[in-house]
This record gives sequence, structure tokens and C-alpha cells, in this order.
Amino acid sequence: MIAELIAVGTELLLGSIANTDAQIISEKLSTMGITVHHHTVVGDNPLRLGEALEAARKRADIIITTGGLGPTCDDLTKQTICKIFGRELELHEDILEDIRAWFRTKLGRPMPENNVQQAMLPMGCTVFDNPVGTAPGCAFEEKGIHVLMLPGPPFECRYMLENRAARYLEKLTDGVIVSHEIKIFGMGESSVEEALREPMTRLANPTLAPYAKLNECMVRATAKAETREAAEAMLRPLVDQVLETLGDVVYGVDVESLEAAVSALLRERGLTLSAAESCTGGLVAKRMTDLPGASSVFRGGVVSYTNGVKAGVLGVDPALLEEFGAVSENVARAMAQRCRSICGSDLAVSLTGVAGPDRDDRGNEVGTVYIALASAEETICKKFSCGKGRGRDRVRSAAASSAFDMLRRKLLGLPL
Ligand code: ATP
Repeated sequence: MIAELIAVGTELLLGSIANTDAQIISEKLSTMGITVHHHTVVGDNPLRLGEALEAARKRADIIITTGGLGPTCDDLTKQTICKIFGRELELHEDILEDIRAWFRTKLGRPMPENNVQQAMLPMGCTVFDNPVGTAPGCAFEEKGIHVLMLPGPPFECRYMLENRAARYLEKLTDGVIVSHEIKIFGMGESSVEEALREPMTRLANPTLAPYAKLNECMVRATAKAETREAAEAMLRPLVDQVLETLGDVVYGVDVESLEAAVSALLRERGLTLSAAESCTGGLVAKRMTDLPGASSVFRGGVVSYTNGVKAGVLGVDPALLEEFGAVSENVARAMAQRCRSICGSDLAVSLTGVAGPDRDDRGNEVGTVYIALASAEETICKKFSCGKGRGRDRVRSAAASSAFDMLRRKLLGLPL
């Protein structure tokens, strides 16, 4: 099955927003074994949307549009699709009632009359109701081509894709597609590809494909079979082979993130963490507290950005700051130890480094980050070169990821 995505919205062409819906949908389709050959963006213009649809119907089995399902006069997706595919729009009373109820209960006001337009859907379509917004989506088949319409707001688009459209798409692909994501930190995509080149090129089903992510990478193993059990049985030896080949740079299979892996390990061992952060400005704490239930493993932290706070709040000896400078092993160690005692956690991590754009006054290069880890038994410290030359954000996110990997290695007793 070949799919093509058409995003509708003048804002996308003006650069006011990025086409994140396309990313969300493409990512999902790749896990379902549906190949995407084209992404198109058109403005709120029926002529150009019509041209994009005409092109897509010649080369794709599945066309998925996003946006343009709203109540205003520039929301023309449904009308244009119906014109091209020769369908009429009809009113869906039940959907209209859902939209009225949404206005009544969520917005506390009556539905404006132009929202009736949102309940007009192509005749004979499969309706995707929208419990997280007003615009319903829908799908229909015309001469072997499936057309799906999803709302533009990314939250609604993701929700409808996962909870409504995925079921429709699953029925189009015979058999079941199962995939597992092997998450890697500390090895680049090209090295991963080199290590796994033989199975990657040899295998057709199951398959192995590498993906680069921010500061890390991933290998996705995908199998297609008649049943889930059969697909899982095909995947098991392949995933084992990848784990054996890559070793301890793999931080998890189907794990959301490095911090989620660390959080699970802390929970398993009944341990708590705190963080003293300088150059990351609270990013470690943010990533920990993004996880639901974080309070059982993360006690808190100190953003000790200036020397005044490192000394005054954390209690780092000013003499250390004076002698070695803020970006130094001695200061990182002291920050972790003091944070552990102030926050009363089992473990504390500290990060102090140069986010850039310039090196610091002691000549430390941009990207130099000392990360220390204090526990009851010992304090360990490592010097990293993080995201050099790629801006402050990259330095900070790479530093935070390195801290999480250090924690993971400490908790699993792996070499640092
Ligand atoms: P609504 O009922 O909210 O109007 P809609 O399906 O008509 O939904 P649009 O009006 O086209 O969607 O877009 C609504 C908002 O959704 C846009 O202002 C934009 O913020 C966001 N959006 C639309 N398309 C995309 C896209 N492809 N990627 C990311 N965001 C998008």
C-alpha cells in the first residue's frame, strides 16, 4: 500500500507553523507497513487542492488529508475532495449533536450555525468522531483509492489517527504488522548501520531499519504475518540478535526515552534522584517531571546557574569555585554531593558546562560538560563533549541525555 499525505493550510506555506501532522502520520504509517511516497502542502485554495488530489490519485492507494475541516469559509477540504471523487455531502445528525454538545459542555455557549458545516460529510463514508475537538474526520473508498480526512490541530490529528483511522487502515493491509523499537544511546546511526548491515540488507520480512533521533538513534524491527503471535515469533530472534550485536548501548526496547528507562530502574530499586543543574538550566528536572508519577523517584533539584547560587544555595565551597572554576570536575562533584544531601535523595546528578556560544573565561570549549553522580558509596564524575558547534539547545539536550545514560549505567552496574 502506498500512501500520500496532503496537508491543507495557508499558514503552513507561510511558515507560521510546521507540518507536524505529516510527521505524526508518516511515523505511524511506517509502523503499519504502509509506504509514504509524497507529502504535499497546499494553501486553503480549492483549485490547488484539487490539483494535488488529482496527482495523488494517480500514484497512491491511500490519500490522507489534514486540516480544512473547520467551520469557516476557507475550510474547503471536504467539498473539494467530494468534487474530485464525485461524491455528495450529507448531514450527519448524530455528529451535529456531538458538536452541539461540545459547545454546550466544553465551551459553555450555543453552537454557531456555521458549525453545521462540520457535520456535513461525504455520502457513505466511515465517520471518525472527534471527542477531543469539533471537526470530525472521515474516510471512503472510490475506485480502489482510500481517502481519509483528519483535522489539522496536531493533538486532534494524533488522537483521530491512533483511535479511529488506524483501525480503518489496518483493515486495508492483509495480515498483522508488528514492530519493536530498539533504542540506542552512545552509538551513531552510521555505526549502528555498519554493525547491522548484513541483516538489514538480507532481510525482507522481518525488516530492520535505522532511524536517527535527537542525540540518539533507534532500530525498528518490523514483521508482517497472519497473526500477532506469528509476527512476534519472527521478531524475537531478530531483536535478540540486535541486542547481542549492539550490547550495552541499547537502553531499552519499546521504551519511550532514556529518562523513562532511568525512572523505571529507580522505581524497581526503590531509589530516588535529585539534580543540581548549571548549563542545562533545569532540563534534567523537566525531562524527569514530564513523566507521569515522577514524584515517587524524583525529589527535586537546584538550578544553580551562577556561582552565587552554587555557593549560597547548594553550599559549594567558594574556594573550589575560585581555584578550579565553575566548569570543573571538583565543582561538579561538590554540586552532586551537596544536592544529594539538601534534597535527601539516594542519588544526585550534577551538570556544569559551557553551552556557548563562546568558550568560558577559563578556556573551556563550547560543549564541555562535567557530569557527576553522587550516591551513598561514591561520587563519580565524567567529562563530556556535548553537541559541539550545534547551538546551546543541542549542548544542553546532549548533556541531559548523557546524564541519564550515566545514571542508567550506574543503576545497571555497566561500565561508564
Ligand atoms: P478546526 O476545526 O480546529 O478548524 P481543521 O481541521 O479545520 O480544524 P485547520 O483549520 O486547517 O484545521 O487548522 C487548525 C489549526 O491546526 C491550525 O491553525 C494549525 O495551528 C494546526 N494545523 C493545521 N494543519 C497542521 C499541520 N499539517 N501540522 C501542524 N499543525 C497544523
